[in-house]
Amino acid sequence: MTEIIDVLVVGAGPAGLSSAFFLRHMGDDLEVLTLDRMEGRRRSRYHSICGEGISVGAFSELTPIRPWAVKDRVDKAVINWPGGVRTTQRLDGVIIDRPAFLDRLEGMYREEGGHSAVGSLISLKQEEGFYTAVLYDGTELRSRYVIGADGAFSTVRKQIFGTRPLRMLAVERYLVEAETLPETLTFHMGESYGGGYRWEFPCGGLVNTGFPAGTSRLDEYVDKACRFLPFGGVPQVTDGNVLLVGDAAGQANPVSFGGIRTSMVAGKRAAKAVIAGKPERYRRWWERSRLSSPWYMKAHETLAGWSDGDMERAAAPFQGRARLRPLLRRAMTSPRDFHMYIAYGLAFRESW
Ligand SMILES: Cc1cc2nc3c(=O)[nH]c(=O)nc-3n(C[C@H](O)[C@H](O)[C@H](O)COP(=O)(O)OP(=O)(O)OC[C@H]3O[C@@H](n4cnc5c(N)ncnc54)[C@H](O)[C@@H]3O)c2cc1C
Repeated sequence: MTEIIDVLVVGAGPAGLSSAFFLRHMGDDLEVLTLDRMEGRRRSRYHSICGEGISVGAFSELTPIRPWAVKDRVDKAVINWPGGVRTTQRLDGVIIDRPAFLDRLEGMYREEGGHSAVGSLISLKQEEGFYTAVLYDGTELRSRYVIGADGAFSTVRKQIFGTRPLRMLAVERYLVEAETLPETLTFHMGESYGGGYRWEFPCGGLVNTGFPAGTSRLDEYVDKACRFLPFGGVPQVTDGNVLLVGDAAGQANPVSFGGIRTSMVAGKRAAKAVIAGKPERYRRWWERSRLSSPWYMKAHETLAGWSDGDMERAAAPFQGRARLRPLLRRAMTSPRDFHMYIAYGLAFRESW
């Protein structure tokens, strides 16, 4: 029989690499193996299908991971609402070269003594005291713990949990040669985006833009791609010694749709729980975390049901720069929209 390793991390994206790195960095010499079905240019291509925006604040929870491979810095968000209403929010963030960022994180993980393998998981079964993973080429791996960080269509989730994330959005991402506001995350809101938005982010001399698939059209571009974004969570993030993190657990924020930060923070928490030998601690953390607050999903559903007129009415008082005092005043005088203001206020601070 093949050796039983301590932890198999399926998927080496932001969630998987954060889990794996912290398992080695904080753990007492656990044997950790990451497994990813892609390598080289295919993997870089997959991970570049993203807005690549992340707040600087995200990294305060992830030391010693830093915002490496920065393509652009951003210091504000400009949100264009229907009716010509424009709101501005000061923030501090970066646009990263995500494949290069992940390469660097993988390098750090290997320096900590972690191992990586290329292969596609096709089945996962619980046996007596361990899990058996079968790969596409027939290889079998045995592990005491499994972290499922294998993205939107997670095989780990299907095999062990038999569940799905609450919502799944297909998103089109384009790179275009165009002008955009410098150092600014630009958003366009409207009823046609179905609770989502159109974004324009600076991207190393180009503009990274996109929208929920089918809600808009763009004919001239340098590059076009589409990827799925799950959100709204899954019924359970742990089952025995199997833990789901990142998109596998539908952890992207339902308001901002940021998922890199949540994936990496969840990865660190999952690693901590595995090191303690108590996976349910990760479940408890996630259920109590503000990152999984039902306010976000409620705000998403509300926005998805709003007309352009509703959006204009709600955003108009914040024309110009949104400040805390008018936000609170508006929240008190308009109880119907209260959860929206709270969710949007929090989303800018902690969801990306
Ligand atoms: C168009 C778009 C734009 C976005 N923009 C932003 C943004 O600007 N900021 C932000 O914070 N978030 C953004 N997001 C969300 C963010 O990209 C995701 O939430 C994040 O990538 C989740 O990371 P993950 O590691 O959980 O999953 P993934 O990044 O999907 O990584 C999963 C990994 O698992 C591997 N894998 C899958 N199946 C298997 C298998 N069977 N066997 C082995 N390996 C497997 C894959 O190859 C992949 O490497 C965006 C999403 C989309 C779709």
